[in-house]
Amino acid sequence: MATASARRIAAAFALLVAAAACTGEAPPESNVEGDVKLYAMDCGSIDVADMSVFSDDGTFDGQSIRLANPCFLVRHPKGNLLWDTGHPDELADTPDGTTFDVWHYALKTKLVDQLALLDLKPSDIDYLSLSHLHPDHSGNANLFAGSTFIINAFERQYMFSEEGRTAFGESYSSLEQATTILFEEEHDVFGDGTIVMKSMPGHTPGSSVLLVRLENSGSVLLTGDLYTHAKARELQTVPTFNLDKPTILESRRRFEALAATENARVVIQHSLAAFEALPTFPAFLD
Ligand SMILES: [Zn+2]
Repeated sequence: MATASARRIAAAFALLVAAAACTGEAPPESNVEGDVKLYAMDCGSIDVADMSVFSDDGTFDGQSIRLANPCFLVRHPKGNLLWDTGHPDELADTPDGTTFDVWHYALKTKLVDQLALLDLKPSDIDYLSLSHLHPDHSGNANLFAGSTFIINAFERQYMFSEEGRTAFGESYSSLEQATTILFEEEHDVFGDGTIVMKSMPGHTPGSSVLLVRLENSGSVLLTGDLYTHAKARELQTVPTFNLDKPTILESRRRFEALAATENARVVIQHSLAAFEALPTFPAFLD
């Protein structure tokens, strides 16, 4: 049977719990959105002399295009997240860039020098995530082996498979030893709904997109290579270098539903127009 003093202790404890509920962590939907900043950095360009490979039905045969190749930094009160790492910084040492087949790659300013404008070193990046393993996205990944690596489980499996290692492994080999968070459907980085990776496979086995919910700018969706340029979204073309066509078409259906629900600003990462419409680094969206 409870004594009077036990009841008083229980009542006091109940008050403490109630007080903690008022002053403790905010519930997921009333979060710290106002402090989240999204920066887009110029991590290179890709000139494509012949876009034949951009569609499996000949839509772009003989056309050329200049693509952007940005990296994104998200600053949150609980940490810094880098989404994609662009071309390798060494490319900036070759001012004219480099050509391979129909592709010409160039980089004006190294990622480390851009981060330095915000007084950030690679060791200040708490979390690294990649939309997918391809070298235009993972070029500097080895600089961030000390960060916590957040990646779709199937993408990581592919990255460190014999096939993935042989084709692309050089850019990200150090991540094999990194502290890693794996996800299959989605991952809410800070647990408050502001920064969420969503699996949208098809381009590669575990390609993902990033949803950033900002207080003033609203929701922004970074596509990775779900679409490789603006016309791909308009015409729903699928590149020949895509791994699985039915899967990417299904991912795009889910993506468009999400974009509509969120009323999101869709940033097709390789779209030069989409990149140029973003604030010029170090300016940011918030
Ligand atoms: Zn790409």
